[in-house]
Amino acid sequence: MARKIALVGVGKIAIDQHIPSLAKSDDWELAAAVSRNHQVEGVPNYTHMTEMLEAHPEIGVVSLCMPPVPRFDTAREAIAAGRHVMLEKPPGATLSEVHTLETLAREAGVTLYATWHSRKAAQVAAAKAWLADKTLERFSVTWKEDVRKWHPNQDWVFEPGGMGVFDPGINALSIVTEILPDPIHLKEAVLKFPANRDTPIAADLEFYHPKAAVVSAQMDWDHSGADVWDIEAVCKEGVLKLEKGGGVLLIDGVQQPGAIGQLDGEYPQLYADMAALVASGRSEVDLRPMLHVSDALTLGKREMVAAFDW
Ligand code: NAP
Repeated sequence: MARKIALVGVGKIAIDQHIPSLAKSDDWELAAAVSRNHQVEGVPNYTHMTEMLEAHPEIGVVSLCMPPVPRFDTAREAIAAGRHVMLEKPPGATLSEVHTLETLAREAGVTLYATWHSRKAAQVAAAKAWLADKTLERFSVTWKEDVRKWHPNQDWVFEPGGMGVFDPGINALSIVTEILPDPIHLKEAVLKFPANRDTPIAADLEFYHPKAAVVSAQMDWDHSGADVWDIEAVCKEGVLKLEKGGGVLLIDGVQQPGAIGQLDGEYPQLYADMAALVASGRSEVDLRPMLHVSDALTLGKREMVAAFDW
């Protein structure tokens, strides 16, 4: 039997990915939507989550698709109402608030799932398996896209808590923390802040690696042209390249078999995971990608660059 689920915050990602993924899933039935500005066809719509929760005791799960800053209050309310909660990435505005949600979910006996959609890209698991027994020498992340394309007019990305270039960059870090066999931590960073904004539009990061490999990331959100979502691992035994955000894998230049897709397949997998977590009474909250962002914002040297306007 499909479980009933409600979506809260119906914006770009809810429309692009969550609604189509739920429509295709046998595990889930989209049973309500909460949005101040949009209506989802075919289900009851509410402007406030409180009303939806009161009207629909049969809906046991909510999926929160709003930006990170308003997410904590909504998640806290849903957990207090005994609902299982799925969080878009990044799971919150601060690490501490997500720790609080974890505690609240545990005490309430509900599932909390902090999703990382990029970890579900087609070739991430294969990349992890290949790297597991290799000797890493150099590991570089290049994450460049145009903020105007993926976040048109979304001013929240440049407001405090919006994370700026780390909104996409955290996708790279979610893959990095999944596939690297050894833990890394930030050594230094340079963050480029537009003169008129509160979050960085570009970042260069360097990490400590316990076996002395050189690990770095370059992120740029003011990039024109095609998206670049690449990770390269140069190892003693060969070179791994993950392209298209984890969708394409090359070993020594040879493309490996497996599905290719940007985002396609990622959200259906997240919802399959959520169904399994709820069924088994477990939670999954891995904050390592966000820890690196938080470290970069703590340690990073700040440079001011040209003002950004849409
Ligand atoms: P969005 O379209 O700007 O916002 C999503 C919805 O959140 C809005 O439509 C609005 O819902 C609600 N919302 C916005 N600000 C709010 C506030 N202050 N208080 C309460 N609700 C608010 O953003 P998005 O691109 O969908 O991104 C949402 C999350 O998904 C982010 O964490 C982002 O990192 C993640 N994500 C985005 C993409 C992408 O391609 N854009 C891809 C993967 C993941 P209503 O107007 O319906 O009330």
